[in-house]
Amino acid sequence: MPELPEVETIARELKEKVLSRTFLDIWIDAPKLIKKPKNLTKFKKELIGRKITNISRMGKIIVFDLSGDMTMFVHQKMTGHFLIGKWNRKGKQIIPAEKGFLRDSANKYIHIIFYLDKGKQLAFSDLRKFARIELLSRKDFEKFKKELNLGPDSLEKNFSLDKFSKIISSQKGKIKQVLMNQKIISGIGNIYSDEALFEAKINPFRPADSLSKKELQKLLIAIKMILRKSIKAGGDSVSDYRRTDGSLGEFDKLSKVYAREGEKCLRCKSTIKREKMGGRSTHFCPKCQI
Ligand SMILES: [Zn+2]
Repeated sequence: MPELPEVETIARELKEKVLSRTFLDIWIDAPKLIKKPKNLTKFKKELIGRKITNISRMGKIIVFDLSGDMTMFVHQKMTGHFLIGKWNRKGKQIIPAEKGFLRDSANKYIHIIFYLDKGKQLAFSDLRKFARIELLSRKDFEKFKKELNLGPDSLEKNFSLDKFSKIISSQKGKIKQVLMNQKIISGIGNIYSDEALFEAKINPFRPADSLSKKELQKLLIAIKMILRKSIKAGGDSVSDYRRTDGSLGEFDKLSKVYAREGEKCLRCKSTIKREKMGGRSTHFCPKCQI
């Protein structure tokens, strides 16, 4: 599932490419992706004619502010991702107009095309079709935000060591699971929790409330550093995630512990282990992560 750096990369690229554009038409062949309003005709009617006034990220959700006090949000879930380009529709077939990344296999599950002014097309590819798209009034969106009750964003400017320590030290769960709980901290998933804990030399199975002040400091620095590094690399494309031009993010080439089971630890040369934790694969060095 895309995590903070992947969603941040997409939100930034979308802002760069489609900010101030207006929705002219929509083609959809997977109505189940649209959760609100459930009625597709109503969704189209509500969206068409609206201008994109801002695009941002909230946790792992992409938020489109629209004219007329409306908000469209998209949770891409497992395999959903936005693409910008040109596609031709021939019957049931959707074909990218030009050669290049958009023709890669991860990008061929186009289920929505938003036609924007100035000839722009914003498509949504989603192999598993688990994504969630909702169009709400600004007021209802604020309500939804409250219900979601997301923890602070790890890249927030005022996310201080003090705040981080308070949040983590009050948790009894395993540190990796605590980091992945969106209601405690938002944006961190499987890959970046493994990477941050490796960087901070902390064993992922440790109870969160056992971390010392010094370890908490190292961990927060590691989280911020790794997320920024991944955003710079355009995210991690281990799974289906792609950038908006269809190309791959390159963080997977930089990861030090994730998906390196059986390989040598880059720090102490021990063998990297993989163990299940709450159904998720956890990668760590049993020797230098204590
Ligand atoms: Zn090691």
